[in-house]
Amino acid sequence: MMKTITNSIKIVFPAQSENEALARMAASGFLSVSGVPVGVIAELKTAVSEGVTNAIVHGYRNMSGNVTLELKRFASGRIKIVIRDKGVGIADIKKAMQPLYTTAPEEERAGLGFAIMESFCDKVKVRSSPGCGTAVTLEKYIADEK
Ligand code: ATP
Ligand code: MG
Repeated sequence: MMKTITNSIKIVFPAQSENEALARMAASGFLSVSGVPVGVIAELKTAVSEGVTNAIVHGYRNMSGNVTLELKRFASGRIKIVIRDKGVGIADIKKAMQPLYTTAPEEERAGLGFAIMESFCDKVKVRSSPGCGTAVTLEKYIADEK
């Protein structure tokens, strides 16, 4: 399998709500210069937005900290996106990923963030442990246009 990286970006920003838009714009810019079709950019921007919002509102609920967003474009056409926080972590990942499951219903959260990420990506992987934080990996395979 071809693993050559043709472009990449890594940004680190504090967990503040306005940085959700920053992350979306950074992802959009990266995907745009990397030749990703506009329709796919729109989908991946939304997925990134869900992941980063989760890091900010759930991961760092009562604390401050940094969120890392990393994007890689491979020669094979694969896009890999990783969103990391060092917040509270998730005890039961399987449960957290179920559609409509939320630990913040009083904030009018729908529990659909992971479902949205899954619908717009080919693969969603979550690694997390309580007290250590969470890493969400999103993958998308872009068809070769040649
Ligand atoms: P919505 O995304 O629809 O606003 P939500 O954020 O609750 O609602 P999901 O994004 O699907 O729904 O996340 C489900 C649950 O997983 C969250 O309620 C939260 O308990 C947990 N979770 C998700 N991401 C993180 C994270 N980075 N750190 C800690 N907990 C998380
Ligand atoms: Mg969410």
